[in-house]
Amino acid sequence: MTFNQKNFILLLAGGVGAAKFIDGVAHVMDQKELKIIVNTGDDIELFGLRICPDLDIITYTLANIIDREKGWGFKDESFNSLKILKKYYDIGWFNAGDKDLATHIYRTDLFKRGFSKAEITKRICQKLGVKAKLIPMCNEDTPTYIETPKGKINFEQYYIKEACKPEVLNVIFKGIEKAKPVKGTIQLIKNAKKIIICPSNPIVSIGTILAVPDMRKHLRKVSNKIIGISPIIEGATVKGPADKLMKWKGLDVSCFGVAKYYQDILSYFIIDIRDKKYKKKIERELGINTYTFDTLMVDLKKKKKLARFVLGL
Ligand code: GDP
Repeated sequence: MTFNQKNFILLLAGGVGAAKFIDGVAHVMDQKELKIIVNTGDDIELFGLRICPDLDIITYTLANIIDREKGWGFKDESFNSLKILKKYYDIGWFNAGDKDLATHIYRTDLFKRGFSKAEITKRICQKLGVKAKLIPMCNEDTPTYIETPKGKINFEQYYIKEACKPEVLNVIFKGIEKAKPVKGTIQLIKNAKKIIICPSNPIVSIGTILAVPDMRKHLRKVSNKIIGISPIIEGATVKGPADKLMKWKGLDVSCFGVAKYYQDILSYFIIDIRDKKYKKKIERELGINTYTFDTLMVDLKKKKKLARFVLGL
């Protein structure tokens, strides 16, 4: 990693929401100038394989092999292996295509050979032709669990199997207090020209990254170059359980609630044009420069427009 280079943009990213924005960014600037800290709280082991959903979504997006309809997995994918796996295992809820499984097999093999998550990510990116630098938020496994009235379940299970229906009693980032940012990450935070917080789940995508010891502290020091993008539009999520998790956290489910959660690390915030009534409130009450834009990234044109606007700030 070139720690001293200063003309790069650093992104903080989760999965699907982040990937849409990153798709736009990668179309309007050179990927080589992009470094991305990615959430790994959703990582899970299934079928004996190590799966890193957010790292994969971002990798496939940058390699231009993502299924843009679904927002995850490879395009032109088949699911033959999964049919047989589902006969062997009682894991009917998880979906992974044949090509996707190849990534999980490769990653699991490298883990067994003693490579770290950061090193494995680097290799997968190299093999798939990704020029941007992807950095897992930490090398340690820090699985996110959701405590529900029926017990504690893994986040992926809560999201996919339970369709985010159970009441959220608690959110646990297991082992996060012992995790460390990957070597070089703090240097990247210091040296980045600009840092952008993607429109991702504030609690279980960005919140996990911020919970890695030292991460938030160092971001706070450079808050003057940090821009956030709201994943909440008109009081609702575009997809996923951000609303329920924000409620659990005691936050208002609105772009204001997101801004409040990021208040100490942000200087600029992009809210959706449909939420323009919040602009003055965020500026006055939270002291964050707020801009309105159409942030609903329904196609590549919209993704590129938003990327150009944010990068131009
Ligand atoms: P996940 O880990 O796959 O759930 O993905 P992320 O955490 O990166 O993204 C989830 C968040 O992205 C949700 O809160 C969505 O509301 C948000 N999101 C998805 N699509 C869009 C979009 O087009 N615009 C905005 N502003 N937010 C989006």
